[in-house]
Amino acid sequence: MDCGYILPSYVWRSIWSAKFVVTNGYKWSIGTGHNIPLWGSRWITDGSILTIPNNADVNLSDMRVVDILGTTVKRWNSSLITNMLGDQEGSKILQTPLYDSVSQDKIIWRFEKNGKYWVKSAYRYCIEDTLDISHLQVQGNWNLIWQIQAPPKIKNFIWRLCRNCIPTRTRLLQKGVNCPCNCVLCDDETEDSLHVFMFCDTVKQAWYNTGLWPIIQQRLTGDNNMAELVFSILQVLASEQMSIFVTVLWSMWQSRNNKLWRNQTETASAVYDRACTVLTEWQSVQAEQTESINRQLQPAEIKWTKPSLGRYKCNIDASFSSELNKVGIGTCIRDDQGRFVLAKTEWFSPTCDVEMDEA
Ligand SMILES: [Zn+2]
Repeated sequence: MDCGYILPSYVWRSIWSAKFVVTNGYKWSIGTGHNIPLWGSRWITDGSILTIPNNADVNLSDMRVVDILGTTVKRWNSSLITNMLGDQEGSKILQTPLYDSVSQDKIIWRFEKNGKYWVKSAYRYCIEDTLDISHLQVQGNWNLIWQIQAPPKIKNFIWRLCRNCIPTRTRLLQKGVNCPCNCVLCDDETEDSLHVFMFCDTVKQAWYNTGLWPIIQQRLTGDNNMAELVFSILQVLASEQMSIFVTVLWSMWQSRNNKLWRNQTETASAVYDRACTVLTEWQSVQAEQTESINRQLQPAEIKWTKPSLGRYKCNIDASFSSELNKVGIGTCIRDDQGRFVLAKTEWFSPTCDVEMDEA
């Protein structure tokens, strides 16, 4: 039966729906400019496209990029461009670089510096174009987290805390998990990150023990979220304070989990002590490792010693020259008082490696 049209195949419809990637991802690399339409094509450095003015002369519609270049050298004809397109459009064109090394007009992929198409960059463009991920972007010095002198598991925990990934009851309820909302530790308030780590009575006492509470309190504005609070505190702490701050946060979560899963109630001192123990142990392992590396880097001191009484010692060394195809051997004999007895140097022709000669 003739329906009047044919439904395009799934493959074709898929290709067609992704054509925006190609139409937005290409850019002309300007050679002579003869092949590049001035209007409606992408050749300006910021990826924008010129549209022909409504009142433009019909002759302008066929203009090419070469028409706005100088006649003798490959430079923009700035006065023509500014007169024709105005200052705003003109400045964008004048900022578009022209390279003498590019002799032919060619189409390149504009999301990579080398102009070559990569599926990875096309995918990234698709994601940025089709998804609004701005709500997932949390401001803060994220690199600072990884620079803190603390065990990796604790830095990982802080990263998850700032990403709002710690499964407090509020977070679980947001994710559709059916659970109570009250704090595991005090049972009095709603359990969210700020409560578990800042406001619950036990944890507050633990902060007093660290001596960091005045700094934290200054930054608790009431409307900041956990990530903002953590970043604002970290940026004013000294290196050692940062270590203890993040480790105590981690220890607080351990305390909360011990209460939830083992029904163990911990004191504020226990929370602080666990943090100190974990940190001290980690620091001592780090110090040991550093010492061990330094030991390995320092060459062992080798000292010549005299042979035992009535004996002679013969030291021998060898080297070879691949250029001369010769092996050199030097020997030196000393007596039991370390006095020189005899020395000799010899050259051989066969080439072999040093280890073999020394053997
Ligand atoms: Zn509580």
